Amino acid sequence: MTDEQNRHLILADGALVKEVSIKEIRPCIVAEGMVRVLMQLDNSLDAVIPSLMTIYPPGKVNYIKNKNILTLSLHNRLITIYPSGKVSMNKTLDEEDALETITKIMVDINQAHLQESTTGTSDLQDAQERLSNLGPLDLYHCLPQTGCGECGEATCTAFAMKLLSGDTTLDCCTPLKESEHKEKLRCLENLLGEPLMAALGWKTQ
Ligand code: SF4
Repeated sequence: MTDEQNRHLILADGALVKEVSIKEIRPCIVAEGMVRVLMQLDNSLDAVIPSLMTIYPPGKVNYIKNKNILTLSLHNRLITIYPSGKVSMNKTLDEEDALETITKIMVDINQAHLQESTTGTSDLQDAQERLSNLGPLDLYHCLPQTGCGECGEATCTAFAMKLLSGDTTLDCCTPLKESEHKEKLRCLENLLGEPLMAALGWKTQ
């Protein structure tokens, strides 16, 4: 295949990334019958990676700060994003599956880029700081603590742990939307700040 055939225009209006090139497809060493795909995006990601990590739940993210490399545990695979724009993806079915998944990541990258341009550096550092210090007990203290089970979990502690791992969303705790728990909602807003509330799945509408 030529370089031209390997290049795909995914998001014509993308604020930072628009195209992806498939560089290599090899057997995946951790999942038999699946592939590992190496791709190259059409822009440097050096500046956007620190913002990108703040839009996912902490349990889905592994960030190597001194190399500015981000690994996401998303869409049933590991996706590693490098500052040069290189992306590797394991446990992938085929090229079509890789393109479908990288499209979602490119949407997130463009969103993080827009967020980075509108958010000050200190706000971004603040979000990163909150992320790295966040534990399940911190979240638990700001939940209604009724153990009502409306979120699908038996206890608020279990819900807090699943929130951090990205296996549930804050929105599932419906009592938080009731006026009697508005203090708890305020507690979460103070603890997390707006970007992390959104990253954990809080929807204001
Ligand atoms: S819905 Fe909220 S209050 Fe009820 S158990 Fe789940 S986390 Fe606790």
